[in-house]
Amino acid sequence: MLRWFAGQQIRNTASIGGNICNASPISDLNPVLMACGAKLHLASQGSKRVITLDSNFFLDYKKTCIKPNEVLVAILIPFTAQNEYVYSYKQSRRREDDLAIVNAGLRVVINGTKGQWRIRDCTLVYGGMSKTTVMASNTQQALIGREWNEATLQEATRLLSEELQLSWGCPWGHARVPQVSGHLILLQVLPDSLPPPLSSLSPSTSTLWHTQIQQVIITSSQGFQRVPCDQKAEDMVGRPVMHLSAPQQATGEARYLDDVPRLEGELYGGLVLSQHAHAIISVDASAALVMEGVVDYVSVTDVPGDNMIGINNDEPVFADGKVMSFGQIIGVVLATDKPLAQRAAKAVRVTYEDIHPPVITIEDAIRAGWFIGEEMKVEDGDVEKALSEAEHVLEGEVRVGGQDHFYLETQACLVVPKGEQEEVEILSSTQGVTAVQTNAARGLGIPRNRVVSKVKRIGGGFGGKETRGCYLSTAVAVAANKVQRPVRIMLDRNEDMMTSGGRHPFLGVYKVGFTSQGRITALDLKLYSNGGISADLSIPVMQRAVTHADNVYKIPNYRAVGKVCRTNLPPNTAFRGFGGPQGMIITEQWIERVAEFLKLPSEQVRRLNFYHDGDATPYGQIQPKVHVSRCWDTLLENTHYLTTWRSSVDLFNK
Ligand SMILES: Cc1cc2nc3c(=O)[nH]c(=O)nc-3n(C[C@H](O)[C@H](O)[C@H](O)COP(=O)(O)OP(=O)(O)OC[C@H]3O[C@@H](n4cnc5c(N)ncnc54)[C@H](O)[C@@H]3O)c2cc1C
Repeated sequence: MLRWFAGQQIRNTASIGGNICNASPISDLNPVLMACGAKLHLASQGSKRVITLDSNFFLDYKKTCIKPNEVLVAILIPFTAQNEYVYSYKQSRRREDDLAIVNAGLRVVINGTKGQWRIRDCTLVYGGMSKTTVMASNTQQALIGREWNEATLQEATRLLSEELQLSWGCPWGHARVPQVSGHLILLQVLPDSLPPPLSSLSPSTSTLWHTQIQQVIITSSQGFQRVPCDQKAEDMVGRPVMHLSAPQQATGEARYLDDVPRLEGELYGGLVLSQHAHAIISVDASAALVMEGVVDYVSVTDVPGDNMIGINNDEPVFADGKVMSFGQIIGVVLATDKPLAQRAAKAVRVTYEDIHPPVITIEDAIRAGWFIGEEMKVEDGDVEKALSEAEHVLEGEVRVGGQDHFYLETQACLVVPKGEQEEVEILSSTQGVTAVQTNAARGLGIPRNRVVSKVKRIGGGFGGKETRGCYLSTAVAVAANKVQRPVRIMLDRNEDMMTSGGRHPFLGVYKVGFTSQGRITALDLKLYSNGGISADLSIPVMQRAVTHADNVYKIPNYRAVGKVCRTNLPPNTAFRGFGGPQGMIITEQWIERVAEFLKLPSEQVRRLNFYHDGDATPYGQIQPKVHVSRCWDTLLENTHYLTTWRSSVDLFNK
């Protein structure tokens, strides 16, 4: 059982006492220990007692009879006697690091002679079948004295299915599977563990379990598109094309950056990250540098080139006397391994003198007049006139939250100095190999042709590794250059979330004019995004938002003004949709409000305002063919929206 117990990490840290006392109904150890009648030595101040781990031990879900002042100090597992067999079994979805669906500790004592074996005693204990580890006492009793043969096993199966029942949806079990597996366990395990000829009873000869369990038919569906038979083989549109690395990824054979074997002399970098949003800093790395295995501390003074990088050269590699955002890199401690480097990074003393108040929200930045770049504007028609002439005008605000990219593989890179003219090779998990190269060259003060930037595959990016990997790869390049040894960093999840930025939160402030029929006549929209401390891709993201805020609607008088707010946060960046979703969500909010105000169905107001063939967008793009009305009608029809959904929503809202 220990082989299938959790994974190596858990086996190295979890205690046996913790597993017993935790009293999980799917503990792997408790069924086995209970089956063999383990004795638990309990101690409290001034007293000791020994109890048997039997059916009286577990009182309820995760509750045992151990008193609050007692601790388990020893476990005594009795030796097996002659003709006594103990077996354990675990069924789980995976072999490594998975909790049991069902498990069992089974003990049987047999006596008799060749050809006529009887069950003298037995203990059948199961996990995953109840809210505690359970002993199948009725089945045990019924089996004692019975001959060990096929008929007995089948009878045992019947008794077990009566005694151990799980209802669907109970919180501690996988109802259907254990019912099947529990019986299988008895049939599979016991014959195998007994001496021949008893072991010849195989599960295949005992099929009673199959007929006794009420099978639940599980259905599934798979969707794919049929392409026309005359579609050219090289035309991939509509075909179910498999990801090129799918077999390697599904089997776990795919190699990621952190799978690259450790190089000779390689060091790991522990990041010293700002814990304050905006402060003057002083740094003392001496406590880290005296730790055995720590090689160096790298900071702004070690940058041979320009400390300002990023696509706008406005982001420091290392903080220079001042931190401008929470999570900003102050320095890197280089050590022989990751745990040591991270411990040493924590030993670096950073003293902060806060610069008040930090600018965190969009509203803070508007108040402080803190913006990145110029205001962006898309304007068409005469918004003021149209608003003043509109039958109705509504004003309001919409907020859209941010998101973390949460790629499975966090930001990671390995930099190898090549020992000639400051050349470096950078392997990184990036969506922008050129950006990694350009920024490292800038930080190192060398031409780009001395930086080889490579990426094999990335474990997700979603825009978060388009530009953002550079803050890490440049810092690592500076570190590797300083010590002339390979340096690697793969961020822990919390480090990644602290440093890398995410989707831009938005605030939309709108004024919309419309007729009593719901036709939109004018929109005056102000969009603000939270850009973080440096520009990164905030400007193009905002450009996308102001040009997408018309969504699918013809708005004859349109003005969208976008401003990127500078805040003391890590720079926000590209994220799927790149500002488009924020602009469109805001539009969908105000159009819903218009419908609500007019007491009209919102699908009707939407359809009334759709673009049509030949319409121009506010930025002058003529749309020769617009399919949105056809798409919309098909969608309404196929989802039975008007006949079913709409009425149930109305009913619910009554
Ligand atoms: C990823 C993962 C995979 C896992 N897979 C499995 C698995 O496959 N099979 C399985 O059975 N379990 C599995 N577990 C559960 C794990 O085995 C238990 O959580 C672990 O054994 C508990 O041991 P611990 O030393 O951490 O106990 P703790 O968490 O420290 O303690 C658990 C409880 O027991 C009490 N306790 C601990 N020691 C004593 C003592 N000596 N006397 C009195 N009370 C005590 C504590 O007060 C606490 O209430 C898994 C857990 C994880 C996180």
